[in-house]
Amino acid sequence: LPPGDPVLQVRGLSVSFGHVRALSDVDISVPEHGVLGVIGPNGAGKSTLVDVISGFLPRATGTVTLDGRLLTGSPTRRARAGLRRTFQQDRVPPGLTVGAYVRFVARRRLPGAEVADALEFFGCPSARTPLSRVDAGARRLVEVVGHLLAKPRVLLLDEPAAGLPHEEHVAFGRRLRQVPARFGVSVLLIEHDLDLVRSVCDRLTVLDFGEVLASGPQADVLADPAVLKAYMGE
Ligand code: ADP
Ligand code: MG
Repeated sequence: LPPGDPVLQVRGLSVSFGHVRALSDVDISVPEHGVLGVIGPNGAGKSTLVDVISGFLPRATGTVTLDGRLLTGSPTRRARAGLRRTFQQDRVPPGLTVGAYVRFVARRRLPGAEVADALEFFGCPSARTPLSRVDAGARRLVEVVGHLLAKPRVLLLDEPAAGLPHEEHVAFGRRLRQVPARFGVSVLLIEHDLDLVRSVCDRLTVLDFGEVLASGPQADVLADPAVLKAYMGE
C-alpha cells in the first residue's frame, strides 16, 4: 500500500431494495490508522453500507478494496482478508463468560493477559464475569475487544455506543481514539452521537437519502451548510 493511500476504499457503491435506493454511487475512504466517521439521519443507508462492505449484502454494484486489493466473497472470506464488523443489534450466545465471548468473537486462541489488558483498556468487566450479568451497552464493548484482538486491518463499528449511558460516551470516545495506534487497526465508525463523532473522527462522510452529501476533514464537513441543513435541521 503506497503511503497516504486509504486502507479501505469504496467506489461507486449502489444498492436497491425493490424501489428503495438505499445507496447511490457512494464513495468512501478509510485512512490508514485513522478513524472515518459516517454520519447521517435515520434511514440514510449507514447500516446498508456496512452490510455491503462486509459482504452480508452481496447484491450491490461498485467496488470495495482493502489494501488496494478487490474485496469480494462471503463475510467469512472478507474477515479472513482483514475486515471485521459489529452489528447494530448484538448477537450474543448464552452461557458464556466475558473472556469466552471475546475469544468467540475473535475466533482464535488468545493469551489470558492479552484479553485482560484489552478488557481493562475499554473499562469492561473482567474475563471471568458471566456475560448474563453484563448489560447490553457493556457487552457491545466486549464484542469490540474481541474484534480488535483478531487484529483486523479495518474494523467497521455500527453505532457501538448505543446502549451505553450517555455519560460513558466520552470515556468510550477517548479509548476509541487510541485504538488505531494501540491495535494497529483503521476504523469506520457509524455513530449518531455528534459529540462522540467530534471527539474521535479525523474525517467524516455524511450520507443523506443514500447519497454522499459531504466528505472531508471533520471540521470542514461539520461547518458545511448543506450538512447543517440536512443533518441537524438548521
Ligand atoms: P441507517 O442505518 O442509516 O439508519 P439503513 O441502511 O438501515 O439506514 O437503511 C437505508 C434504507 O434502506 C432505509 O430506507 C431502509 O428502510 C432500507 N432498508 C434497509 N434494509 C432493508 C431491507 N433488508 N429491505 C428493505 N429495505 C431496507
Ligand atoms: Mg443503522
